[in-house]
Amino acid sequence: EGLPPDIAALVARRRRSFGAGSVLFYDVPLKIERAEGAVIHASDGRAYLDFYNNVPSVGHCHPKVVAAVREQVGRFNTHSRYLCDITQDYAEKLLATFPAPLSNLVMTCTGSESNDLALRIARSASGGIGFVVTRTAYHGNTAAVTEVSPSSYKRGAPPAHVRVVDPPDPAIYGNNLAQGFADAVAGAIAQMQADGIAFAGLLVDTIFSSDGVFADPPGFLAPAVEAARRAGGLFIADEVQPGFGRTGAGLWGFSRHGVVPDIVTMGKPMGNGYPVAGLVTRPELLDGFCAAFGYFNTFAASPVAAAAARAVLEAIEEDGLIANAARVGGHLKARLTHLAGRTPISAVRGAGLYLGVAFADETGPRADIASALINGLREEGILIGAAGQYGNVLKIRPPLCVTAEHADRLVDAMERLLVGR
Ligand code: PMP
Repeated sequence: EGLPPDIAALVARRRRSFGAGSVLFYDVPLKIERAEGAVIHASDGRAYLDFYNNVPSVGHCHPKVVAAVREQVGRFNTHSRYLCDITQDYAEKLLATFPAPLSNLVMTCTGSESNDLALRIARSASGGIGFVVTRTAYHGNTAAVTEVSPSSYKRGAPPAHVRVVDPPDPAIYGNNLAQGFADAVAGAIAQMQADGIAFAGLLVDTIFSSDGVFADPPGFLAPAVEAARRAGGLFIADEVQPGFGRTGAGLWGFSRHGVVPDIVTMGKPMGNGYPVAGLVTRPELLDGFCAAFGYFNTFAASPVAAAAARAVLEAIEEDGLIANAARVGGHLKARLTHLAGRTPISAVRGAGLYLGVAFADETGPRADIASALINGLREEGILIGAAGQYGNVLKIRPPLCVTAEHADRLVDAMERLLVGR
């Protein structure tokens, strides 16, 4: 297929080993040799600018995280049923970043496990079983979480206890986005209850990543959260994508909306690539759940996980990454908005360093333009991906250490590819 021989051989071996479960990016897949900051060095000898990865959020191979993991993994690593300074220290540091009622932490290994536990806690606290989610939401891969992740369905519809609402897109709800979205949530709950299913909670990613990135106006979530609570349900904020400073306005996406969730789930950037994730909630909710079930997770809250996670929190602070997300993200958004007038860009959305660039014209969403751009940018040495129901939204979420010069390189390359000069 015109692949370099070494890449072709590795792709063939990979297909034999991993079968249909193996998904690769790009027609000519990238083989990574090493990375630092926002730059990935590949086996083709080129250095790529990473505008896609929100896992190595404080920067690829951040020296502080590397040193912390190396130190602790050489000292000891166990499950969590012993006293441990580093884990305790991390829990206190992390909880100090949340509004007061959210004062208990459960550590897990993945965002999926966090959301799976959140569903269980919400059911135990509400006595209900049903959840409301957005149309193209992704919340993870367990059996229960797949049911609340409509984007995972290649055919068929979610089960009866899962009700879907349109994402908070101004093109759908018009000017009164907050009320429109809240009405949709209230309507879905009422329908569920009319069908004899008791409501347990509203679960949303607070920047609506897989729905196509919806961040504005700040505060629009509040009436929907109120509607969920009025109906006896909990509000679960999935911070796996917006969390840890990405929105450039504090550590957590929900704070832009002026709401305090009942449960917050987090993962991805939490350990900069070391698998560590978690759930934060009110003590009475966790007490009730643990009285009925208890929770143990072998690899979670290990000292090495805590070392990685603590180094990430410290790096966010010491490197000024929230301010950088606001500054570089703002610069990038302004330049992209400027570019929009002369191109098929139909919207530039998002907050901080989580931006969505939608492509559409009078024929409808243009996934073909997004896809051509993703491949063109790879040729220009920039890695990026797409999201949204129609795959027509460029998803921009680089490591938070990315610079304004990096942002300019992205927009200049987009301009060359879209305007042709
Ligand atoms: N929630 C959201 C919003 C996500 O984007 C993801 C992962 N893409 C998850 C949860 C699941 O996290 P994990 O892959 O760590 O299980």
